[in-house]
Amino acid sequence: MFYLDHNATSCLRPQSRLAMEAALAVEGNASSVHRWGRAARALVEDAREAVATLVSARPENVVFTSSGTEANTLALWGAVLGCAKTGAPVERLLVSAIEHDSVLSTAKHIAERMPDVCFATLPVSSEGTMDVDALRSFLAGGGRTLVAVMAANNETGVVQPIAEIVECVHAAGGLSVVDAVQSCGKNATDFVGADYLTVSAHKLGGPQGVGALVMQDNAPFAPVIRGGGQESNRRAGTENVTGIAGFGAAAKFCAADDIGRLSELRDRFEAGLRQRFADAVIFGERAPRLPNTSCFALPGIAAETALIALDLGGVMVSSGAACSSGKVRPSHVLQAMGVPTELARSALRISLGWNSRAADVEAALASLEKLAARVMRRAA
Ligand code: PLP
Repeated sequence: MFYLDHNATSCLRPQSRLAMEAALAVEGNASSVHRWGRAARALVEDAREAVATLVSARPENVVFTSSGTEANTLALWGAVLGCAKTGAPVERLLVSAIEHDSVLSTAKHIAERMPDVCFATLPVSSEGTMDVDALRSFLAGGGRTLVAVMAANNETGVVQPIAEIVECVHAAGGLSVVDAVQSCGKNATDFVGADYLTVSAHKLGGPQGVGALVMQDNAPFAPVIRGGGQESNRRAGTENVTGIAGFGAAAKFCAADDIGRLSELRDRFEAGLRQRFADAVIFGERAPRLPNTSCFALPGIAAETALIALDLGGVMVSSGAACSSGKVRPSHVLQAMGVPTELARSALRISLGWNSRAADVEAALASLEKLAARVMRRAA
């Protein structure tokens, strides 16, 4: 089997598996005062420390959630409700056009429920990079602004100018939500001063179903999920101790990943693609990109056909975000980059991870070559 879909979910690291097996043996509730409860609490706090170190934050500012999706939802609603409580409500909400659906849908939900909040989307260039001049113009309009941007895009891997964006937002007195779900662990410059930062364990080689929201010290916030006082009253619900322990182990061990090795593998894939297919299009090729991601199209070969053909050969890739695969419409990310619909329908993504090998890349290239030859024979 050749797995090249780590942006959908990475493989579980052996260290995470071990940490989770050990955590399963701890029966207590992390909120209980007795010894079993304290043992569970110790696992949670150890993981909190590891996640905080990974994103250069203070452990007390890390709030565990059930996913990256929940962390994004909590960041946006938590900020909007928190600002309202301080008497300086969010008046304007700006979200980039290429955000993950969890940000786009939540922002739209906020706009529907709070008609006083002016909602707008930030465009991107044809290379998939956010338009910082458009951001500056929007901010010049005044009013307290909440800006949500991703550190790197899940489909194209294009890395965004987050430091510059956060600086502009702060200079205008605004607040920033940065979705670092894809870039965390793969790109060292993710975390520059964001007021709210989100991460997800399964993109790092941890388990599915655990994420975190990381806030700056004074970021306005109001809880959305209410109940017990877990996570310092910021996110109620008994902690997923096993998952959190696996998250902590992934956070510790992903720091040692050889990122250079990943980018060599990705470059090897793209060189092989160019060699075999003169008309291959690589999206965002001229922009800074994550080292592990390549989003490309072979014109005339529909992505769905390619996915199935590659899968039959044991090669697993994606036709865009896993969350939206199955939908027939082309990706909103490629649309925002101005990619023609027909070409976008051919878009495939390979994404590498901690256990990727040269054999994965070679198998993907060989399968694509075989498929293209078949398509050409049929067309002849
Ligand atoms: N943000 C980005 C950029 C993502 O790629 C994803 C998942 O693909 C998410 C958020 C959601 O994370 P989760 O799968 O943990 O809900």
